[in-house]
Amino acid sequence: MFKKLIHSKRAVIIGIIFALLISFFWYQKAVEAYDVVIDGKVVAQVKDGEEFWDAVAEYQDSVGKELGHSVKNLSNIELQKTRLNSKLLETDFKKLAKNANLAIEGYRLLIDGKQLCAVYDKSELEKLLEEYKNGFVKGIDENASVKSIGFKQKTEIKKGLVEIADLVDSKRAGELLDEKEQEAAVVEVKEGENAWTIAQNHDISIVALEKMNPQVVMEKLFPGDKLVVSPFKSRLDVIINLENSVVESIPFKTETIKDNQMYSNQKKVTKPGIPGEKKVTYDIVLENGLQVSMNTAKTEIIKDPVNRVVRIGAKTTVSRGGSRNYGVVSGKRVSSNFGWRTHPISGKKSFHDGVDIAASHGTGVYAYSAGTVSFAGWNGGYGKVVYIDHGNGLQTRYAHMSAISVRVGQRVSAGKKIGAVGSTGNSTGAHLHFEVLKYGSLKNPFNYI
Ligand SMILES: [Zn+2]
Repeated sequence: MFKKLIHSKRAVIIGIIFALLISFFWYQKAVEAYDVVIDGKVVAQVKDGEEFWDAVAEYQDSVGKELGHSVKNLSNIELQKTRLNSKLLETDFKKLAKNANLAIEGYRLLIDGKQLCAVYDKSELEKLLEEYKNGFVKGIDENASVKSIGFKQKTEIKKGLVEIADLVDSKRAGELLDEKEQEAAVVEVKEGENAWTIAQNHDISIVALEKMNPQVVMEKLFPGDKLVVSPFKSRLDVIINLENSVVESIPFKTETIKDNQMYSNQKKVTKPGIPGEKKVTYDIVLENGLQVSMNTAKTEIIKDPVNRVVRIGAKTTVSRGGSRNYGVVSGKRVSSNFGWRTHPISGKKSFHDGVDIAASHGTGVYAYSAGTVSFAGWNGGYGKVVYIDHGNGLQTRYAHMSAISVRVGQRVSAGKKIGAVGSTGNSTGAHLHFEVLKYGSLKNPFNYI
């Protein structure tokens, strides 16, 4: 009886121990988990390690398939056995696998050492850079020869592992290359404005304005025209060296023969002048399509000008002193001729309505011959200007003056002082812009002075 009791007691104990063990293992199993450690940092916990590794491999595989190239895992991933913390437990393994930093063997574009983008295909980058460069050749005169195209910044294409997140396709790479650090500022010409007032309003010189707007003829601005007043800033600047030859005219000189039989306001052309021609070769540097410098490399005379011979009356001469007497002004030189000019960069032709005679600021300006003042005051690009009608459809215009000393309706005699040389209106320096019109159509002033 006693023995039987002992027997049943042992069974109970064994039973209890067994039960304890089971619940202990069950408990152990319930509190057991793995810390997911990515690059030394615990990002989550998982219960099933094997399933986790499968998810990581599957993710890497799917990314590789999507890209069409095998990918590498840059992250160091470890699982560490730990006690379960239900707050850290993650059951979405796919989401967890995305923490892995995957990379691909690709190419980075570095501009001055700074990465702009990275792509898989090197030839794509090279093609993009080539297209980018050639984009700035558009708009250059077809006859010009491009000697070199290059980048201002140091550009490098470096092979290496590229993180998937950094990888872009060629379309996006092109967009990044085209993106401006700062867009160009463009203004619209308003009624009553001219290049001069616009330049002043934006605190830039006329020369700078012309360089930023090579396609625009500054003397012929109309309301609604658009002008760039500050250029864009790009990530990559293109420098183009080019050479262009244009044919320019050489003004003829005037030989004067004094004739004591004639009065000073009388003259007679005994031999008309013929302008010569020269081929001027310019060395031009463009940055992002805009002129940085332009130097004359070579000048070849094609045709010498033929002097004009004029007999001038010597009975009482109007003395104006100074360097060379052009009649209407004593100037240093002719800075711009009458007629068509070819722009050395765009190849576009523009017409210069008169002659520009460079002269010191304040130098007297004199009436070409007797007449009536038909305009005196400010007129757009002309600045301060005087028109004189001489009869027989002949009109002369004197522009960019600093001062005007006649008024509308006033009768003036030949050689009468009408104002002073200046640089008002569209002008880049002190000079007299002198125009001659016969019945409203422009004439070469050199056939008159
Ligand atoms: Zn002019």
